[in-house]
Amino acid sequence: MIVLLKKKPNKDELTNLIDWFKGMGLNVHVSEGEERTLLGLIGDTSRIDIDLIKALDIVDTVKRIQEPFKNANRKFHPDDSIIEIGGTKIGGGNFQLIAGPCSIETEEQICTIAREVKQAGATMLRGGAFKPRTSPYSFQGLREEGIRLLLAAKRETGLPVVTELMDISQLKYFDDVDVIQVGARNSQNFELLRELGHCKKPILLKRGPANTVQELLMSAEYIMAGGNENVIVCERGIRTFETSTRNTLDLSAVPVLKELSHLPVVVDPSHATGVARLVGPMALAAVAAGADGVMVEVHNDPQHALCDGPQSITPAEFSMLTRKVMRVRGALAR
Ligand code: PEP
Ligand code: MN
Repeated sequence: MIVLLKKKPNKDELTNLIDWFKGMGLNVHVSEGEERTLLGLIGDTSRIDIDLIKALDIVDTVKRIQEPFKNANRKFHPDDSIIEIGGTKIGGGNFQLIAGPCSIETEEQICTIAREVKQAGATMLRGGAFKPRTSPYSFQGLREEGIRLLLAAKRETGLPVVTELMDISQLKYFDDVDVIQVGARNSQNFELLRELGHCKKPILLKRGPANTVQELLMSAEYIMAGGNENVIVCERGIRTFETSTRNTLDLSAVPVLKELSHLPVVVDPSHATGVARLVGPMALAAVAAGADGVMVEVHNDPQHALCDGPQSITPAEFSMLTRKVMRVRGALAR
Protein backbone atom coordinates (compact mmCIF):
# COMPACT_ATOMS: atom_id res chain seq x y z
CA MET A 1 0.00 0.00 0.00
CA ILE A 2 1.25 3.46 -0.84
CA VAL A 3 0.30 6.57 1.15
CA LEU A 4 1.00 9.89 -0.58
CA LEU A 5 1.18 12.74 1.91
CA LYS A 6 0.07 16.32 1.38
CA LYS A 7 2.75 18.97 0.88
CA LYS A 8 4.73 19.85 4.02
CA PRO A 9 3.12 17.43 6.45
CA ASN A 10 3.14 18.25 10.14
CA LYS A 11 6.21 16.41 11.52
CA ASP A 12 4.51 15.17 14.71
CA GLU A 13 1.48 13.88 12.84
CA LEU A 14 3.79 12.11 10.41
CA THR A 15 5.75 10.47 13.22
CA ASN A 16 2.49 9.37 14.87
CA LEU A 17 1.24 7.90 11.61
CA ILE A 18 4.47 5.99 10.97
CA ASP A 19 4.49 4.67 14.54
CA TRP A 20 0.87 3.60 14.18
CA PHE A 21 1.66 1.62 11.02
CA LYS A 22 4.69 0.06 12.70
CA GLY A 23 2.52 -0.85 15.68
CA MET A 24 0.39 -2.85 13.24
CA GLY A 25 3.43 -4.94 12.34
CA LEU A 26 4.12 -3.18 9.03
CA ASN A 27 7.45 -2.01 7.68
CA VAL A 28 7.27 1.61 6.57
CA HIS A 29 9.45 2.81 3.75
CA VAL A 30 9.64 6.61 3.78
CA SER A 31 10.58 8.24 0.51
CA GLU A 32 11.02 12.00 0.68
CA GLY A 33 10.86 13.65 -2.74
CA GLU A 34 11.46 17.30 -3.68
CA GLU A 35 7.78 18.11 -3.37
CA ARG A 36 6.07 15.23 -1.67
CA THR A 37 6.63 12.45 0.82
CA LEU A 38 5.49 8.91 0.11
CA LEU A 39 5.06 6.06 2.59
CA GLY A 40 5.36 2.51 1.29
CA LEU A 41 3.69 0.01 3.61
CA ILE A 42 5.08 -3.47 3.43
CA GLY A 43 3.42 -6.44 5.09
CA ASP A 44 -0.17 -7.54 5.62
CA THR A 45 -2.21 -4.41 4.92
CA SER A 46 -5.47 -6.31 4.48
CA ARG A 47 -6.85 -5.13 7.84
CA ILE A 48 -6.15 -1.45 7.21
CA ASP A 49 -9.20 0.73 6.73
CA ILE A 50 -8.24 2.80 3.68
CA ASP A 51 -10.94 5.43 4.30
CA LEU A 52 -9.66 6.06 7.80
CA ILE A 53 -6.19 6.88 6.48
CA LYS A 54 -7.55 8.98 3.62
CA ALA A 55 -9.44 11.08 6.16
CA LEU A 56 -6.25 12.12 7.97
CA ASP A 57 -5.18 15.78 7.54
CA ILE A 58 -1.70 14.98 6.28
CA VAL A 59 -2.78 12.34 3.75
CA ASP A 60 -3.48 13.12 0.11
CA THR A 61 -4.16 9.73 -1.50
CA VAL A 62 -3.86 6.08 -0.59
CA LYS A 63 -3.35 3.34 -3.14
CA ARG A 64 -3.59 -0.33 -2.45
CA ILE A 65 -1.07 -2.12 -4.57
CA GLN A 66 -1.95 -5.47 -3.18
CA GLU A 67 -5.47 -6.87 -3.25
CA PRO A 68 -7.02 -7.43 0.18
CA PHE A 69 -7.69 -11.10 -0.58
CA LYS A 70 -4.74 -13.37 -0.02
CA ASN A 71 -5.91 -16.99 0.03
CA ALA A 72 -7.97 -16.53 -3.13
CA ASN A 73 -5.27 -14.49 -4.89
CA ARG A 74 -3.52 -15.89 -7.93
CA LYS A 75 -0.39 -13.92 -7.05
CA PHE A 76 0.10 -16.20 -4.08
CA HIS A 77 -1.08 -19.36 -5.87
CA PRO A 78 -0.23 -19.12 -9.58
CA ASP A 79 -1.68 -22.52 -10.54
CA ASP A 80 -5.42 -23.09 -10.95
CA SER A 81 -7.00 -24.75 -7.92
CA ILE A 82 -8.40 -28.17 -8.63
CA ILE A 83 -11.23 -29.11 -6.29
CA GLU A 84 -12.24 -32.72 -5.66
CA ILE A 85 -15.97 -33.33 -5.73
CA GLY A 86 -17.17 -36.84 -4.89
CA GLY A 87 -14.73 -38.63 -7.19
CA THR A 88 -14.64 -35.93 -9.85
CA LYS A 89 -12.77 -32.61 -10.16
CA ILE A 90 -13.32 -28.99 -11.15
CA GLY A 91 -10.69 -26.42 -12.16
CA GLY A 92 -7.36 -26.61 -13.93
CA GLY A 93 -8.96 -27.89 -17.12
CA ASN A 94 -11.57 -30.08 -15.38
CA PHE A 95 -15.04 -28.98 -16.48
CA GLN A 96 -18.39 -29.72 -14.80
CA LEU A 97 -21.82 -29.54 -16.35
CA ILE A 98 -24.26 -29.12 -13.48
CA ALA A 99 -27.97 -29.54 -14.18
CA GLY A 100 -31.22 -30.08 -12.35
CA PRO A 101 -34.37 -28.38 -11.19
CA CYS A 102 -34.52 -25.14 -9.26
CA SER A 103 -36.39 -26.99 -6.49
CA ILE A 104 -36.77 -30.61 -5.55
CA GLU A 105 -40.51 -31.28 -5.71
CA THR A 106 -41.10 -35.04 -5.49
CA GLU A 107 -38.95 -38.16 -5.55
CA GLU A 108 -40.20 -39.01 -9.00
CA GLN A 109 -39.45 -35.49 -10.29
CA ILE A 110 -35.87 -35.33 -9.01
CA CYS A 111 -35.03 -38.93 -9.96
CA THR A 112 -36.51 -38.57 -13.46
CA ILE A 113 -34.63 -35.33 -14.10
CA ALA A 114 -31.44 -36.80 -12.63
CA ARG A 115 -31.61 -39.80 -14.98
CA GLU A 116 -32.37 -37.62 -17.99
CA VAL A 117 -29.67 -35.02 -17.40
CA LYS A 118 -27.13 -37.75 -16.73
CA GLN A 119 -28.08 -39.41 -20.00
CA ALA A 120 -27.69 -36.03 -21.72
CA GLY A 121 -24.18 -35.51 -20.36
CA ALA A 122 -24.54 -33.74 -17.01
CA THR A 123 -21.72 -34.52 -14.60
CA MET A 124 -23.39 -33.15 -11.46
CA LEU A 125 -26.95 -32.79 -10.22
CA ARG A 126 -28.38 -29.62 -8.69
CA GLY A 127 -31.67 -29.16 -6.82
CA GLY A 128 -32.82 -26.77 -4.12
CA ALA A 129 -34.27 -28.04 -0.84
CA PHE A 130 -33.89 -24.91 1.29
CA LYS A 131 -35.12 -22.18 -1.05
CA PRO A 132 -34.47 -18.46 -0.60
CA ARG A 133 -37.70 -17.01 -2.00
CA THR A 134 -38.45 -13.32 -2.33
CA SER A 135 -41.99 -13.88 -1.04
CA PRO A 136 -42.68 -15.75 2.20
CA TYR A 137 -45.88 -17.04 0.54
CA SER A 138 -44.04 -18.80 -2.31
CA PHE A 139 -43.01 -22.47 -2.16
CA GLN A 140 -40.13 -22.57 0.32
CA GLY A 141 -38.68 -25.94 -0.69
CA LEU A 142 -39.06 -29.39 0.87
CA ARG A 143 -36.20 -28.64 3.27
CA GLU A 144 -34.69 -31.77 4.93
CA GLU A 145 -37.11 -34.02 3.04
CA GLY A 146 -35.80 -32.41 -0.18
CA ILE A 147 -32.22 -33.30 0.75
CA ARG A 148 -33.35 -36.88 1.38
CA LEU A 149 -34.89 -37.06 -2.11
CA LEU A 150 -31.83 -35.46 -3.70
CA LEU A 151 -29.65 -38.12 -2.05
CA ALA A 152 -31.97 -40.81 -3.43
CA ALA A 153 -31.33 -39.38 -6.93
CA LYS A 154 -27.61 -39.35 -6.19
CA ARG A 155 -27.70 -43.01 -5.18
CA GLU A 156 -29.66 -43.94 -8.27
CA THR A 157 -27.52 -42.07 -10.82
CA GLY A 158 -24.16 -41.75 -9.08
CA LEU A 159 -24.11 -38.02 -9.87
CA PRO A 160 -22.51 -35.81 -7.20
CA VAL A 161 -25.02 -33.28 -5.87
CA VAL A 162 -25.03 -29.57 -5.09
CA THR A 163 -27.72 -27.90 -3.00
CA GLU A 164 -28.13 -24.64 -1.13
CA LEU A 165 -27.63 -24.14 2.59
CA MET A 166 -29.28 -21.01 3.96
CA ASP A 167 -28.36 -21.27 7.62
CA ILE A 168 -25.58 -23.08 9.45
CA SER A 169 -28.19 -24.95 11.54
CA GLN A 170 -29.00 -26.89 8.35
CA LEU A 171 -25.45 -28.30 8.04
CA LYS A 172 -26.47 -31.49 9.84
CA TYR A 173 -28.50 -32.50 6.76
CA PHE A 174 -25.53 -32.02 4.39
CA ASP A 175 -23.29 -34.96 5.38
CA ASP A 176 -23.78 -36.76 2.04
CA VAL A 177 -24.14 -33.63 -0.08
CA ASP A 178 -21.06 -33.17 -2.28
CA VAL A 179 -21.09 -29.39 -2.71
CA ILE A 180 -22.77 -26.80 -0.49
CA GLN A 181 -24.21 -23.86 -2.40
CA VAL A 182 -24.20 -20.40 -0.84
CA GLY A 183 -26.84 -18.47 -2.74
CA ALA A 184 -26.64 -14.94 -4.09
CA ARG A 185 -28.63 -13.58 -1.18
CA ASN A 186 -26.22 -15.04 1.36
CA SER A 187 -23.09 -14.11 -0.55
CA GLN A 188 -22.18 -11.53 2.08
CA ASN A 189 -23.57 -13.33 5.12
CA PHE A 190 -20.17 -13.18 6.76
CA GLU A 191 -21.15 -15.23 9.81
CA LEU A 192 -22.34 -18.05 7.56
CA LEU A 193 -19.20 -17.83 5.41
CA ARG A 194 -17.04 -17.92 8.51
CA GLU A 195 -18.84 -21.05 9.74
CA LEU A 196 -18.41 -22.73 6.35
CA GLY A 197 -14.69 -22.05 6.67
CA HIS A 198 -14.63 -24.67 9.41
CA CYS A 199 -15.94 -27.48 7.24
CA LYS A 200 -13.98 -29.17 4.48
CA LYS A 201 -16.77 -29.60 1.93
CA PRO A 202 -16.53 -27.78 -1.39
CA ILE A 203 -18.58 -24.57 -1.41
CA LEU A 204 -20.21 -23.14 -4.53
CA LEU A 205 -20.29 -19.44 -3.68
CA LYS A 206 -22.61 -17.34 -5.80
CA ARG A 207 -21.99 -13.67 -6.51
CA GLY A 208 -24.42 -11.34 -4.78
CA PRO A 209 -26.59 -9.42 -7.28
CA ALA A 210 -25.04 -6.13 -6.16
CA ASN A 211 -21.51 -7.31 -5.50
CA THR A 212 -18.35 -6.44 -7.37
CA VAL A 213 -15.90 -9.13 -8.39
CA GLN A 214 -13.63 -8.03 -5.56
CA GLU A 215 -16.47 -8.35 -3.05
CA LEU A 216 -17.14 -11.88 -4.31
CA LEU A 217 -13.48 -12.74 -3.80
CA MET A 218 -13.59 -11.22 -0.31
CA SER A 219 -16.53 -13.52 0.47
CA ALA A 220 -14.47 -16.47 -0.80
CA GLU A 221 -11.68 -15.19 1.43
CA TYR A 222 -13.94 -15.47 4.50
CA ILE A 223 -14.40 -19.19 3.82
CA MET A 224 -10.75 -19.77 2.97
CA ALA A 225 -9.42 -17.79 5.94
CA GLY A 226 -11.26 -20.27 8.18
CA GLY A 227 -9.34 -23.17 6.63
CA ASN A 228 -11.66 -24.36 3.84
CA GLU A 229 -9.78 -23.87 0.56
CA ASN A 230 -12.44 -25.66 -1.50
CA VAL A 231 -14.28 -22.69 -2.90
CA ILE A 232 -15.83 -22.45 -6.36
CA VAL A 233 -17.12 -19.01 -7.33
CA CYS A 234 -20.23 -18.57 -9.45
CA GLU A 235 -21.32 -15.69 -11.67
CA ARG A 236 -25.13 -15.69 -11.82
CA GLY A 237 -25.95 -12.22 -13.10
CA ILE A 238 -26.00 -8.88 -11.38
CA ARG A 239 -28.69 -6.24 -11.05
CA THR A 240 -28.49 -3.45 -13.61
CA PHE A 241 -30.96 -1.03 -15.27
CA GLU A 242 -31.67 -3.61 -18.00
CA THR A 243 -35.11 -5.19 -17.72
CA SER A 244 -35.22 -7.61 -20.66
CA THR A 245 -33.43 -10.23 -18.59
CA ARG A 246 -33.89 -11.16 -14.92
CA ASN A 247 -30.32 -10.08 -14.20
CA THR A 248 -27.40 -9.07 -16.42
CA LEU A 249 -24.87 -11.83 -16.97
CA ASP A 250 -21.47 -10.28 -16.34
CA LEU A 251 -19.46 -12.57 -18.58
CA SER A 252 -16.33 -10.50 -18.33
CA ALA A 253 -16.30 -11.50 -14.66
CA VAL A 254 -15.12 -14.94 -15.83
CA PRO A 255 -11.73 -13.88 -17.25
CA VAL A 256 -11.42 -11.19 -14.58
CA LEU A 257 -11.94 -13.75 -11.79
CA LYS A 258 -9.53 -16.15 -13.43
CA GLU A 259 -6.91 -13.44 -13.71
CA LEU A 260 -7.26 -12.36 -10.09
CA SER A 261 -7.85 -15.74 -8.52
CA HIS A 262 -6.95 -19.41 -8.87
CA LEU A 263 -10.42 -20.58 -7.82
CA PRO A 264 -12.64 -22.45 -10.29
CA VAL A 265 -15.35 -20.30 -11.87
CA VAL A 266 -18.87 -21.54 -12.69
CA VAL A 267 -21.51 -19.61 -14.64
CA ASP A 268 -25.26 -19.94 -14.01
CA PRO A 269 -27.03 -18.65 -17.15
CA SER A 270 -30.47 -19.60 -15.77
CA HIS A 271 -30.66 -17.09 -12.92
CA ALA A 272 -28.63 -14.63 -14.98
CA THR A 273 -31.17 -14.42 -17.79
CA GLY A 274 -34.42 -15.73 -16.30
CA VAL A 275 -35.49 -16.76 -19.80
CA ALA A 276 -35.23 -20.40 -20.97
CA ARG A 277 -34.42 -19.56 -24.61
CA LEU A 278 -31.47 -17.39 -23.54
CA VAL A 279 -29.92 -20.07 -21.34
CA GLY A 280 -28.30 -22.03 -24.18
CA PRO A 281 -26.56 -19.10 -25.92
CA MET A 282 -25.25 -17.72 -22.64
CA ALA A 283 -24.08 -21.14 -21.45
CA LEU A 284 -22.02 -21.47 -24.64
CA ALA A 285 -20.69 -17.93 -24.22
CA ALA A 286 -19.67 -18.82 -20.65
CA VAL A 287 -17.75 -21.85 -21.87
CA ALA A 288 -16.05 -19.72 -24.53
CA ALA A 289 -15.15 -17.15 -21.85
CA GLY A 290 -13.24 -19.84 -19.96
CA ALA A 291 -15.67 -21.01 -17.25
CA ASP A 292 -14.75 -24.22 -15.43
CA GLY A 293 -18.38 -25.21 -15.23
CA VAL A 294 -21.90 -24.24 -16.15
CA MET A 295 -24.95 -24.71 -13.92
CA VAL A 296 -28.29 -24.92 -15.69
CA GLU A 297 -31.84 -25.32 -14.37
CA VAL A 298 -33.57 -28.24 -16.07
CA HIS A 299 -37.18 -29.32 -15.43
CA ASN A 300 -39.22 -32.08 -17.05
CA ASP A 301 -42.35 -29.90 -16.93
CA PRO A 302 -41.23 -26.24 -16.78
CA GLN A 303 -44.79 -24.92 -17.05
CA HIS A 304 -45.73 -26.56 -13.78
CA ALA A 305 -42.44 -26.08 -11.95
CA LEU A 306 -42.92 -24.85 -8.38
CA CYS A 307 -40.04 -22.42 -8.81
CA ASP A 308 -38.26 -20.73 -11.75
CA GLY A 309 -40.20 -22.51 -14.53
CA PRO A 310 -39.73 -19.67 -17.08
CA GLN A 311 -35.95 -20.08 -16.99
CA SER A 312 -35.92 -23.89 -16.93
CA ILE A 313 -35.02 -25.82 -20.05
CA THR A 314 -36.26 -29.35 -20.72
CA PRO A 315 -34.03 -32.44 -20.65
CA ALA A 316 -34.26 -32.60 -24.47
CA GLU A 317 -33.09 -28.98 -24.78
CA PHE A 318 -30.35 -29.70 -22.27
CA SER A 319 -29.21 -32.66 -24.34
CA MET A 320 -28.84 -30.41 -27.41
CA LEU A 321 -26.98 -27.88 -25.30
CA THR A 322 -24.47 -30.39 -23.93
CA ARG A 323 -23.48 -31.36 -27.46
CA LYS A 324 -22.85 -27.73 -28.33
CA VAL A 325 -20.92 -27.22 -25.07
CA MET A 326 -18.65 -30.11 -26.02
CA ARG A 327 -18.12 -28.59 -29.47
CA VAL A 328 -17.14 -25.22 -27.99
CA ARG A 329 -14.80 -26.93 -25.53
CA GLY A 330 -13.28 -28.90 -28.39
CA ALA A 331 -12.74 -25.71 -30.40
CA LEU A 332 -11.04 -24.05 -27.42
CA ALA A 333 -8.68 -26.99 -27.01
CA ARG A 334 -7.47 -26.82 -30.60
C1 PEP B 1 -30.63 -21.24 -7.14
O1 PEP B 1 -29.54 -21.63 -7.61
O2 PEP B 1 -31.65 -21.92 -7.13
C2 PEP B 1 -30.71 -19.85 -6.61
C3 PEP B 1 -31.63 -19.51 -5.74
O3 PEP B 1 -29.78 -19.05 -7.15
P1 PEP B 1 -29.33 -17.56 -6.74
O4 PEP B 1 -28.88 -17.63 -5.30
O5 PEP B 1 -28.22 -17.28 -7.70
O6 PEP B 1 -30.51 -16.66 -6.95
MN1 MN C 1 -33.81 -21.13 -9.29
